[in-house]
Order: sequence, then C-alpha cells, then structure tokens
Amino acid sequence: MSQLIIEGLRAAVDGQEILKGVDLVVGSGEVHAVMGPNGSGKSTLSHVIAGRPGYDVLGGSVRIDDVELLDRPTWQRAEAGLFLAMQYPTEVPGVSLRDMLAASVRTADDSSDIWERLRVEAERIGFGAQFLERPLNVDLSGGEKKRNETLQLGVLRPAFAILDELDSGLDVDALRLVSQRIEEATSEDGLGVLAITHYSRLFNQLKPDVVHVFADGKIQESGGPGLADELEETGYERWVTAPAAAGSAGLLDDPFADPFA
Ligand code: ADP
Ligand code: MG
Repeated sequence: MSQLIIEGLRAAVDGQEILKGVDLVVGSGEVHAVMGPNGSGKSTLSHVIAGRPGYDVLGGSVRIDDVELLDRPTWQRAEAGLFLAMQYPTEVPGVSLRDMLAASVRTADDSSDIWERLRVEAERIGFGAQFLERPLNVDLSGGEKKRNETLQLGVLRPAFAILDELDSGLDVDALRLVSQRIEEATSEDGLGVLAITHYSRLFNQLKPDVVHVFADGKIQESGGPGLADELEETGYERWVTAPAAAGSAGLLDDPFADPFA
C-alpha cells in the first residue's frame, strides 16, 4: 500500500500563480477524479507533479510515500512509480513506441518479455499492431494517441497514474476499452489514479472513489461518485468568479487564440 501525497502545492508560470495550494492524497488502488473548468490549472497540476520544465514551484510537496519528487528530474519520478498520460501526447519522430518501451523496461531492470506484454496490452485495448513500429505519436489521431498512452501504462505498470483528459478524442468503443483497462489495473496491480476529465462518461467503467472540484488553482470541494454526474449537469458556475474564463478574455484581444487552451 503506497500513497501519492500532494501537500500545499503552489506553482507559477510566467510570473503568474496558477496552482494556489493543492492538497490531495491518492492511495494504491484508489481512483480520484479531478473535474474543473478550462484554464483552472488542471494540466498545470499534472505537469508540475511530473516535473515538466518551465514552471516555478513556489511551495509544497509531492511525495510517493516518503520519497520527495519535486527535487528530482522527471525520469526519477517515473522510476519512483509515477506515470503521466498527457492531454496532448508529444510526437517523437524517429523513435518507435516499441523501442521506447523496450528502453524503459530495460532501465527498470525488468526482465519480462516486452514483446509479449506489448502484444497482450495492445489487444486488451484494441490497438493495432501496426502502431507499435510507427514513430511515437507521429500522425496518430487524437484517439490513437490516447490509446497509445494507455498501452504504455499497461506495459510499464506504474504505482500511480495521472490521466489528463484521457477520454478526449476517444470514440465510445475505445473509451470503454481504455477505461476498463485502467479499472483493471487498479484492482490487478493496485494502480492509484488521478483522473482529470470534464465528462462523467469516463466513469462508466473506471469507478472513482472520490470526486474533486478543481477551480482557480485549487480543490474547492470533494465528494462521492455522484458529484461527477452533478457537475456534468450543473457545470462549474458556483466555483468560477467573473470574468468567466481567462480564455474568453484572451479571445477578444487575440482572435487567433485557442479558446480551448
Ligand atoms: P486546464 O488544464 O485546467 O484547462 P491549464 O493548466 O492548461 O488549465 O492552464 C491554466 C492557466 O495557466 C491558463 O490560464 C493558461 O493559459 C495558463 N498557462 C498554462 N501554461 C502556460 C504557459 N506555458 N505560459 C503561460 N500561461 C500558461
Ligand atoms: Mg488541461
């Protein structure tokens, strides 16, 4: 039994504080849903936990049990058991998924048969074998990228996974297979999950133990699984202070701004 412990986490980007004190504890086998409006800092949270460069950590702690992650590079955080399924997975020309995973597994001193595991995992989520040899994420559709992330999770078997909008881009059949696979990892391998999403449809197969409302850089409220349906119904108005979204103000200044960023 392990815990991913986030305490008082504050972080800024470009001098602007985005994370304003996040407290969260995820235990092995637990699923925590994080739901919140666009621009509230959910992806920033996932990036800061994983150690993406470009963020200033202003305070707090992120630990797996008693191992502090914040003062380690990303690869050591992965070695400690952390996995991030990115909202926008990175394209890596010239490196195939198979070679990347083979290198990861070698680094972890894992002697199990990587090819066999890849084949089994690809089949579990209906991912075509042709993707295994293709350059990582290059020219994949949004949904294929998300299956690719899930495949990596299945092969690497981390202790904790952050899923940043894993459901976006997936069609209903793929969503069912992917969320089913992650639910199985929670019971088979004791995977602890932090699932960031806008939609309760992710939770048809993957059963959350706790649902957190994330707005304005921190967790505003936590509740049981029913809260996910309630949020999808009512939105986040209660927690959003005017002006509504930073994105919409930006849109007036810059008609080319991405309104979904
Ligand atoms: P969410 O995932 O909840 O939609 P994000 O974490 O992506 O939100 O973004 C939170 C806020 O931080 C947004 O206002 C966004 O524009 C801003 N932001 C994120 N990354 C950067 C960056 N690299 N430079 C400047 N602003 C950023
Ligand atoms: Mg995001």
